[in-house]
Amino acid sequence: MQDYKTKKRFGQHFLNDHSVIEKLIYEINPKPNEKIVEIGPGLGALTFPLLDKIDSLNVVEIDRDVIARLQQKNNPKLNIHGVDALKFDFRTLLQDESSDTKLRVVGNLPYNISTPLIFHLLEYRHQISDMHFMLQNEVVNRITADPGSKTFGRLSVMVQYFCNCEYLFFVGPESFSPPPKVDSAILKLTPWDKPPHQANDEEHLSRLVAQAFSMRRKTLRNNLKKMLTAEQIEAAGIDPSLRAESLSVKDFVTLSNIESNIESNIESKNDSKK
Ligand code: SAH
Repeated sequence: MQDYKTKKRFGQHFLNDHSVIEKLIYEINPKPNEKIVEIGPGLGALTFPLLDKIDSLNVVEIDRDVIARLQQKNNPKLNIHGVDALKFDFRTLLQDESSDTKLRVVGNLPYNISTPLIFHLLEYRHQISDMHFMLQNEVVNRITADPGSKTFGRLSVMVQYFCNCEYLFFVGPESFSPPPKVDSAILKLTPWDKPPHQANDEEHLSRLVAQAFSMRRKTLRNNLKKMLTAEQIEAAGIDPSLRAESLSVKDFVTLSNIESNIESNIESKNDSKK
């Protein structure tokens, strides 16, 4: 480990398994002229194999000691951004590019910030073509879960609303130094050009989904009491005695659009009276 002492607070578990690194690079399939950003390069387990294949690479790293080591390599193809990825404006990486260039995002993420980081990146989804992340296996299972499964929840609905989500492969703790206490897996997220089911108000969808899952064992009728009546849920073709975990992403969008549909119905009725 090149006499480096890893820091727990930055979630540092460095990949040291060549077969995992190769498999991940194969999945990413980087092309020379692509715009790629790596989050949390650490000592470069992924960074240098990526640099072998592409013309330039942006990395976002918070740890000054790690940054100093990367700088020592003096690699002109490496652009280091020494900031917190949660606060980084990813748009700055595309400023001098033509408007159809998109970012590819990769990273063996610090697990303590993985969910907020995914939500931060989703704000840039129109500028991102895909994302490959190493995450806690349990989180990848939750994100890729199907309706009806125990792990299907708020995280699954919201990430699947914005992206096609794929579980690529499992990685055991022994592939890292130091080994984490949990299993890991590779997740691929591909933001939809347009979500397959479009919510009229995405903020509202997010609130409704949070509310629907607020008490996992309660029915929609109970959890959504403050937002929708049982009659409204039923009129949308959804059984109000179901639990949120058995609804599809499309069902959540249907429920979220009820209010705005009511409003637009009223408007169109008013229009036809004129
Ligand atoms: N990619 C390397 C390191 C993974 S460990 C490898 O696979 O070996 C996670 C890395 O993310 C560490 O380098 C850590 O310093 C960095 N990191 C932790 N929190 C961060 C944050 N908020 N923003 C950017 N990088 C962060």
